[in-house]
Amino acid sequence: MLSFRPSNKWLLLQNCFLCGFNSKRLLCTACLSDLPYQTLVCHICSKSLIVGDLCNQCQQNPPSYTKAQAVFSYVYPIDKLISVAKFKKNLSILNLLGNLMVEHLKFELRPDVLIPVPLHPKRLRQRGYNQSVELAKCISKYTGIPFAYKSCQRIKNTRPQVGLSAQQRIINIQNAFQVNPIKNNWQYIVLIDDVMTTGSTVDVLAKEFLKVGVQRVDVWCCARR
Ligand SMILES: [Zn+2]
Ligand SMILES: [Zn+2]
Repeated sequence: MLSFRPSNKWLLLQNCFLCGFNSKRLLCTACLSDLPYQTLVCHICSKSLIVGDLCNQCQQNPPSYTKAQAVFSYVYPIDKLISVAKFKKNLSILNLLGNLMVEHLKFELRPDVLIPVPLHPKRLRQRGYNQSVELAKCISKYTGIPFAYKSCQRIKNTRPQVGLSAQQRIINIQNAFQVNPIKNNWQYIVLIDDVMTTGSTVDVLAKEFLKVGVQRVDVWCCARR
């Protein structure tokens, strides 16, 4: 006898966001495994390398953070997924990216707190939410590491760093952040960001946290340009 009672298995199927194929997750298994996972990268700033351990910039002028990790290279389809998550407020994609960060980041030491890179209040009002806060929430939920988003503010509405020269980038991001007094037990913190481009934003923010007594700052981001 035929039964038309739907089973949970079928109820859970949806179309893969990228290829449209039936999938239990937002992305099907094939699309998930085809994502541009980072492979050979600089051990400090996570920039893609062809050979070696450190990029030229980290050899000559290392950043103030200890180590940055990124899961993906910022190329198709990660650029598309991040821009949909960021500008179209697609929280299920942000959640998926947060899950993938938890699955692929290497936890050597347990940080005391996760700090999402803040947006300027004006940009936050335009966008309605901060994608880095959503990623931090997601990572916090799965790892139990607390997150704090009121410990620093962006006090300067900076231009995007892309397309600026090294000198312009430094001027643009100077004095962009204000860090509040930290909790006594914050020795090791991790900055959370969606995309790391030049690294100067997290470098400046890390410097501010080191000034107020944090011992070590790392960076975890979803994708690296
Ligand atoms: Zn797919
Ligand atoms: Zn580097």
